[in-house]
Amino acid sequence: VQNARLHDEEKRSREFLNSVVGDTSDPIIITSQDRTILLWNSGAEELYGYSESETLGRKIDFIVPEDDARQKGIVGRVTAEGVPVTYETRRRHKDGLLIPVTITLSPVQDERGAVVAIAGIHKDLSEWKRAERALQEAKEEAEAANRAKSAFLSNLNHELRSPLNVVTGLSDILRLQAPDGETSRIAQRIREAGEHMLRLIEDLLDLDRISTGKLGLQPRDAAIDPLVRAAVEARLPHLPGGFTLETDLGAEGCQVRCDPTRIRQILINLLDNAVKYSPSGGAIRVRTERSGGEVWISVKDQGIGIGPEEARLIFQRFAQLESGGAHREGGLGIGLHLVQQLLALQGGRIWVEGAKGAGSTFFFSLPLSPQAAPPAGVGNGEGALPAADGEEPWEGASVLVLEGQVPIQGYLRMLMRNAGRLLSAHTEEEGLEAARKERPDLILVDLETPQAGGLRLLRRLKSLPETRGIPAVAVSSEGPGGEKEHCQGLGVEGFVSKPIDPVAFRLEISRVLSGRREKKTPPPSLSARGG
Ligand code: ADP
Repeated sequence: VQNARLHDEEKRSREFLNSVVGDTSDPIIITSQDRTILLWNSGAEELYGYSESETLGRKIDFIVPEDDARQKGIVGRVTAEGVPVTYETRRRHKDGLLIPVTITLSPVQDERGAVVAIAGIHKDLSEWKRAERALQEAKEEAEAANRAKSAFLSNLNHELRSPLNVVTGLSDILRLQAPDGETSRIAQRIREAGEHMLRLIEDLLDLDRISTGKLGLQPRDAAIDPLVRAAVEARLPHLPGGFTLETDLGAEGCQVRCDPTRIRQILINLLDNAVKYSPSGGAIRVRTERSGGEVWISVKDQGIGIGPEEARLIFQRFAQLESGGAHREGGLGIGLHLVQQLLALQGGRIWVEGAKGAGSTFFFSLPLSPQAAPPAGVGNGEGALPAADGEEPWEGASVLVLEGQVPIQGYLRMLMRNAGRLLSAHTEEEGLEAARKERPDLILVDLETPQAGGLRLLRRLKSLPETRGIPAVAVSSEGPGGEKEHCQGLGVEGFVSKPIDPVAFRLEISRVLSGRREKKTPPPSLSARGG
């Protein structure tokens, strides 16, 4: 009687279990301790292609691939510890194909807590795996496209720099040969057009460098007002008629942590926009002020203005406003986005105020330097200020120039014409000889010399004790990047990119020479770049 009762009870509970799990769409398989299949529900039929009658009473091994070495161990763990375990594996379908699955194995215990069977809930991962693979492939494709884009931009940069170099160099020579009159004006316009093109390429390259995390900033503490003043002064000669440019610098003595070259780039961008979007000219005002732990710099114009709705859009990549279209003189819609990214990398922000038709004011902030302001002088923005007009930092100095190749041979010598003494060399040997004998105050080396003689000369100069201390500046037609780092590694104090931006050039020479005058080893950081 007792046995019959137990048998009935077991039958009832089995029927109850079957009614619960039998028809669920999730594949569920219950096996006894010796791996015999006790339950195979409709979900399992669907997933593995075997019907219930084909599987009940069989050992489960026919769906377990030979290479699933973990299975036995996991079943052992579930039995011994009495807790469920989930793992990812593969199971064989009736047609022989392996299906990726996750299986959660749970112990089925009797009333005394002994494990009498193992319930497995299987989950088909095929779709998920396919999606994962597609995602991975798409990611690899996107990465390859991105790499191709970076390589293309870097090629474009390289290919365009050489002709632009010739354009700007020759227009400078032309301007100097005919300082007054129409020729000089034409030469100036050619140079500006070349510079504009170069800035577009550099902006594109910078965006690419930011997106690939390869933009190397060189932050230092710099006095903000002199930095702003220098950028404004550099822009002043390029201001079209009908505009005035005023400064109201109220952050005297404030030092900010920034990359001064990039701050100059940001200001030039905002000043160019102020001109571009003010079709009837007007006053442009540049202000600096301290605000809490920051310095705010603003550029205010009397142009077409920006509505509040549009103000949110203009910092997005490639954003250009319809309303600005009529007055647009070109542009790619990347300037403000780049400015925003450059500021973010330096702990700053940018925003705009104003109204449609009533001019705009672009503000940007930079954090004040954490340390107490160091005295003005070498190593901060003041030290890097370009000399006042007509007074070049190399005046009175003796300068040795290793000139590059035609067609603009003589260009560096022309730039340095105010030097106290100008020596020139045409080969690596001549350069070394002159450096040893004459011990100039500065050596300027064009890296575009035949057979890489320029780079070799720098290497030799920096390895010889007698010439190592003479400050050297490399001039390269590559943008800041590999060649610059290479020169830094050699101990070369300065680096300038071609086409040469006269202000950046002056800044850099001034920095290198002031380091020398202060009898201070110049820091290995090279700050200016051309363009
Ligand atoms: P681009 O000038 O090449 O179009 P920017 O990113 O510099 O690209 O500017 C994005 C858009 O913001 C411009 O197309 C213009 O519509 C608007 N904008 C920028 N500066 C000003 C300004 N000073 N006044 C009015 N609108 C401006």
